[in-house]
Amino acid sequence: MGLLDALFRSNEILGIAEETLEFALESSEASHPHEYMGFLRGTEAKRLGVDRDGLIITDILVVPGTEANSVSATVKTSQIPNDVKALGSVHSHPNGVISPSSADLETFGRGSVHIIIGAPYDRGDWQAFDSQGQPTNLNVLDVDLPDTEDFFDFTQQDIDEELRG
Ligand SMILES: [Zn+2]
Repeated sequence: MGLLDALFRSNEILGIAEETLEFALESSEASHPHEYMGFLRGTEAKRLGVDRDGLIITDILVVPGTEANSVSATVKTSQIPNDVKALGSVHSHPNGVISPSSADLETFGRGSVHIIIGAPYDRGDWQAFDSQGQPTNLNVLDVDLPDTEDFFDFTQQDIDEELRG
C-alpha cells in the first residue's frame, strides 16, 4: 500500500462519538434562540481503541463569538496533534428546519461532513450533509473519549511513527 493510499484511507470519517453528538445537541439547545456553530475535529480511530483505519469525530471547536452561555464554555477544544484541519462543521437551526440554507451550501465546500441540528434539539433532531448539501449517513459510535491529558502525551514523533507504520 502506498503512502497516498494510507493517507486517504486514514482520512475516512467513520462516524461521530456519541458523547460528542450529545454535547452538540446540548450546546445547540443552550444557545437557543441563537445559532450554535462549531467546527468538527477528529481523532484516529485506533487511538480510541477502534481497530479500523479512519477518523472519528470527537471534538467541536466552537467558533469564537458564538458562545452564548456557560455550557458552551465547557466545549472540548483539546488540541489534537494529528488533527490539522477541521473535518467539517456543525451548526443549529433554531427554527427547527433541518436542511441547508443557500448560505450554508456556500460554506459546505470546506470540509466533508456538515451537521445541522434543529430545535427542539432532541436526540433525532439532526442530519449530516456532504459538501454538496446532500443528506449523508453519519454513524454514531459509542467510544470512550480519552482525557484531554492523554492527547497531550502524543508527540510529533509518535505521529511520524504512525504515518510510517
Ligand atoms: Zn444553516
